Amino acid sequence: MDDFLGDQLAALRRKGLGRELCTIEGAQGRQIVIDGKLILNFCSNNYLGLAGDPRLVQAAVAAMQEQGVGAGASRLVCGNFPAHRRLEEQLARFKGTEKGVVFSTGYMANVGIISGLFGRDDIIFSDRLNHASIIDGIQLSRAEMRRYPHNDTAALEAMLRQAGGRRKKIIITDSVFSMDGDIAPLDRIVKLARDYECLVMVDEAHAVGVLGAQGRGAVEHFGLQDKINIQMGTLSKAVGAFGAYCCGSADLVDLLVNKARSFIYTTGIPPGIAAAALRGIELIEQEPSLRQRLWDNTHYARQGLQRLGFDTLRSQTPILPILVGDSARAVRFSQELFARGLLVSAIRPPTVPENSARLRMTITAEHRREDIDYALKQMEDAGKKLCLI
Ligand SMILES: *Cc1c(COP(=O)(O)O)cnc(C)c1O
Repeated sequence: MDDFLGDQLAALRRKGLGRELCTIEGAQGRQIVIDGKLILNFCSNNYLGLAGDPRLVQAAVAAMQEQGVGAGASRLVCGNFPAHRRLEEQLARFKGTEKGVVFSTGYMANVGIISGLFGRDDIIFSDRLNHASIIDGIQLSRAEMRRYPHNDTAALEAMLRQAGGRRKKIIITDSVFSMDGDIAPLDRIVKLARDYECLVMVDEAHAVGVLGAQGRGAVEHFGLQDKINIQMGTLSKAVGAFGAYCCGSADLVDLLVNKARSFIYTTGIPPGIAAAALRGIELIEQEPSLRQRLWDNTHYARQGLQRLGFDTLRSQTPILPILVGDSARAVRFSQELFARGLLVSAIRPPTVPENSARLRMTITAEHRREDIDYALKQMEDAGKKLCLI
């Protein structure tokens, strides 16, 4: 047993693929403390700075004082609280759908939605760079997975044509890709879905609060509110809290409550967390200036990186990949930056394809111009030292 575990660990570490946890002190924010050292944080998904916002904390505390800490049971047993109901009503309003339902995490939402609605006889078309939780959901569903090249709608169309008309079909895609920061061509995907009588599901994890005039996500950005069958997203990134949602028709949501095992066989999210998420969505709606700052910072940082000669792939969002290629070199780059007071994590296979290890820099509304200027200077120096630019 010990050999079996130790051997696997040693093999991972030899390949430069070992992973370790580090602990941050204090709340999530533009600056965090690690090992007693103050570090500028460029790797959280806290795009609008809401995770540490006192207004979310206060909403959570108020709900906890009234409704307790733990939900105590599955939502379907006796763990359904007013905070859950309010959040779900708010989500449906925000997304412009008939209904919404909350899951414990985005991972669990994807696994539960896909395995609850699809089975052996169905075909799922999945972008090659979709999030791991979508892949796991497809595998659990036992549906036939057909992966199409990333954002390649011509290839997708050929696959749809070839699949014929008899079986139930769905296209599933991230709307913003979590490791590349590019946006799925939802307008073209929706057209294909209509032409080939196919459903569409989008994962808006990195789009909600970030894209769209009101921050409702890529579906709003493309003006496709009524055209997407299943809209999933998380409450743990820009929203600043925890949990996830699925929005769509009343039938969709009612069926998920009956069939999604990751909804049924798990304890409801703590009511305080639901209340904090509700507050986060309210702030996304009420304070467009947060989103404006996020985008100003994003454009500034992306232009700066490109000017230095870094390859940011096709990023169009606050997720800025900096392609390195080799895993060990990506880790060295990240360590070099850490020594200079910057947290920019290295992302390696299997999270990204082989030979495409990268740094993944995420920009938030909280960053100041001087933070980004400092980061660019350090990346220039470290990048030259490691012969990356
Ligand atoms: C983060 C993420 C998830 C998982 O969400 P959690 O709430 O963190 O479990 C799902 N899909 C995508 C695309 C993500 O980036």
